[in-house]
Amino acid sequence: MLGLRFSLFRRVAGYLRDLAPDDLLKAMYRQALLDLAPFVRGGEVVGDWQTAPVQCKARALSAALFLADEIPAARRVVRRLLGSFREDEAEELLLFARFGDYPWREEIGRTVCFRCGRKAVWRSLFSPPDTIPAAYHWRYDIPENHAPLCHVCANYTLHGKDDDIRRLWGRAVWGVRFDAWDRLHLAFSRGKIPQWDKEAFPLWPPSYGGDTWASGAGVLLARYPRLHSVKRLAIHRDAARALLERFRLVRHRLRERSLLLRVAYPNSRSNRKPSARSRHA
Ligand SMILES: [Zn+2]
Repeated sequence: MLGLRFSLFRRVAGYLRDLAPDDLLKAMYRQALLDLAPFVRGGEVVGDWQTAPVQCKARALSAALFLADEIPAARRVVRRLLGSFREDEAEELLLFARFGDYPWREEIGRTVCFRCGRKAVWRSLFSPPDTIPAAYHWRYDIPENHAPLCHVCANYTLHGKDDDIRRLWGRAVWGVRFDAWDRLHLAFSRGKIPQWDKEAFPLWPPSYGGDTWASGAGVLLARYPRLHSVKRLAIHRDAARALLERFRLVRHRLRERSLLLRVAYPNSRSNRKPSARSRHA
């Protein structure tokens, strides 16, 4: 339930400055009641619960679960809120309530462009296919579905590009972690929704990745994406080289800061002297 408490804490943190510490819990209860208010009255589900945006549903559910820790009657509300969903969709809503709102971008803070080293933002790679219910869409906001790129590089290398190019970016940035995520995305795209132990492996089935974070385990959301330590194989280095060759870096000074170059040629002594293959870039 830690994720739920954190989610509520974040929502009240904006006005923490005006709160005495003792009032924090009260503020969290108040926020929980506010989140629930549009959908629950007198213990009954009311309003447009079915058609509400997934984020509102996840927040309401998160609030009900938070209250259920202390108030037994709130457990009945949770059951009623979930009662109208398929079992797997209800499970996804609960996961969204716990993990979907996690502010990983804020936690990372300043990000540099993977290609040129300038200031970057995280660019989404794949969009949710029509073949999956909206309750699953939160999964497309995980770090592994994003690449850090500046405005210029995003426009040049990503905007309007097909899934093959986006897949190259994912492989170069996230190595085997992307492969694990991509297996799930491909299953979704084919209309197949795998079932697995999501309590133990919230991100993807254990068979999709390795045993550790760096090797692609689906055990936890990456609280802090450690791009330097992720496991990359030959296929991931090839993806980085393919990107370098297709989208050449024209300004020599930018090479020095390019993580993409380091991924493509990890054994070269310096980014100033990459292998001959990329020297023309
Ligand atoms: Zn850039």
